[in-house]
Amino acid sequence: MTVDLAERVFIGLGGNLGDRRATLESALRWMADHPCIDVVQSTPLVETEPWGVADQPRFLNAVAEIRTNLEPGPLLVALQSAERLLGRTPNGLRWGPRTIDLDILLFGTRIIETDALVVPHPCLVGRAFVLEALLSLDSELIHPVSGMPLATYLKDPLTR
Ligand code: ATP
Ligand code: CA
Ligand code: CA
Repeated sequence: MTVDLAERVFIGLGGNLGDRRATLESALRWMADHPCIDVVQSTPLVETEPWGVADQPRFLNAVAEIRTNLEPGPLLVALQSAERLLGRTPNGLRWGPRTIDLDILLFGTRIIETDALVVPHPCLVGRAFVLEALLSLDSELIHPVSGMPLATYLKDPLTR
């Protein structure tokens, strides 16, 4: 795929059921194999404490930078089909246990607020792991809504 002109998109990956490492690696491979997605770079897999629902196994997380010629809506649909393929079953629990969670963290500088999709991801600035992972891929990233460097949110929790 020729993606020179495509925007920089960042995907959050997480999972806390089954073989977490194998599933996250499969998700990265799934994206790389997708005809409309290139994986540019990704962070190491990092273990994190559960967020929102405490009584569940620890998560393994990563962030990947991709290029895609899919629009945000079709990208979300594609990522949700990958989640199902990788064994995610609906349990009705937000932030609950799952084999894989694929979230669109940033889509270039776009600001999207529909019923199905909120970008930048609303929890981006409140989760230290996500901020650290994004900044490890590009320390200069700017929050499209506030216009502030993402690094600011990591340094000063009051600005969250
Ligand atoms: P959170 O989004 O707070 O991390 P979650 O990942 O546990 O919670 P899910 O059950 O995976 O939530 O997704 C619930 C809905 O969130 C999805 O059906 C999707 O339509 C919506 N959604 C809104 N914005 C995004 C986004 N940026 N990336 C992925 N899904 C999103
Ligand atoms: Ca999520
Ligand atoms: Ca999700």
